[in-house]
Amino acid sequence: MHITRNPTRTVRIGSISIGGQCPIAVQSMTATHTQDIGATVGLVNLLDQAGADVVRIAVDSKKDAEALAEIRRQTRANLSVDLQENYRLAELVAPHVDKVRYNPGHLYHHEPSRPWQDKVRYIAGVAAASDCALRVGVNCGSVDPAKKEKYDEDDSITPMLESAWEHCDLLDSLGFTRYCVSLKDSDPQKVIDVNRRFAERRPDVPLHLGVTEAGLPPDGIIKTRIAFEQLISRGIGDTIRVSLTVPNDRKPEEIAAGRQILADIAAGRVRSVVNYGLPTLNIIACPSCSRVENQAFIDLAQQVKEMTRYAQEHAITIAVMGCRVNGPGETDDADLGLWCGPNFVNLKRGSTELGAFPYDQILPRLKAELDGLIAGRGG
Ligand code: SF4
Repeated sequence: MHITRNPTRTVRIGSISIGGQCPIAVQSMTATHTQDIGATVGLVNLLDQAGADVVRIAVDSKKDAEALAEIRRQTRANLSVDLQENYRLAELVAPHVDKVRYNPGHLYHHEPSRPWQDKVRYIAGVAAASDCALRVGVNCGSVDPAKKEKYDEDDSITPMLESAWEHCDLLDSLGFTRYCVSLKDSDPQKVIDVNRRFAERRPDVPLHLGVTEAGLPPDGIIKTRIAFEQLISRGIGDTIRVSLTVPNDRKPEEIAAGRQILADIAAGRVRSVVNYGLPTLNIIACPSCSRVENQAFIDLAQQVKEMTRYAQEHAITIAVMGCRVNGPGETDDADLGLWCGPNFVNLKRGSTELGAFPYDQILPRLKAELDGLIAGRGG
């Protein structure tokens, strides 16, 4: 599947770069006490060995910042830190890391009379002096109160966007362009909406994608997967994190899940109907899981691909889903959908059900529908 990525700027983070045509980077985060240097270095290195491109560490105090200096000495991983309310810790942490994340919604707590623009100027200055990238990390749970006040309380997305755009404008005006942005929510649909709207206005700014509080696997992975499928298939997203609630020794699962999602999207193995924006036939098939009730689904997905080759030049989406749990709902957005039960394959045109057919009869039925669709669109 060819995905045309947004033309984002390239931003270097230690030994890797994100944005432009760089591969989408996969990140994770430690959940150890930062001051427990042995445990934190152990987890950083475990994540690094699992293929993490960047590992993030939380820093909330001067003591954490001191521990960070020692952690830096003991690992070669690309490190990032999260600054919370105490933005002045930036000067203590930036010399030891490759990226600093600040949250615009947290710049109001310390020194409230100092304009946020001054604080950003200070953080950008520290980052530049320390050869560090920045992430403007906007989070649904801590949006700039001044922005929230302006909008209806049901509209959580517009305040996040205004805050992100405003910080981008300020950083650009300061001549600091080595930054990316994240806009996170726990609702995958909101993650999709907010990132799409951001990228429409700022297709040049690299985006870090994630669903916050995604939870335990497998549900946490599924939620994240749906958001990533819809964004990355349309060229949005330069680095990702799959946030999972797992014990520290299982944290490398975040990396494995992220890499698997990226590989699946690139191969068209998706759980939600995605439109890659191509003017050609789009065949997607779910990646399959324990819910598949008939292994014939796997062959069917391949046969659909081969049988429909003749329609390659038509912008039609055909979804092949492996089970009756998610298949019925998740095929609604495809032009033609198939979802597989134990003995029958159900065929749909959009959300209209056309019937259930034995596995050995479904392909001719699908072809007849596809031909009808092509004829209806003027051949
Ligand atoms: S559609 Fe069903 S079989 Fe396919 S990945 Fe989703 S839950 Fe699993």
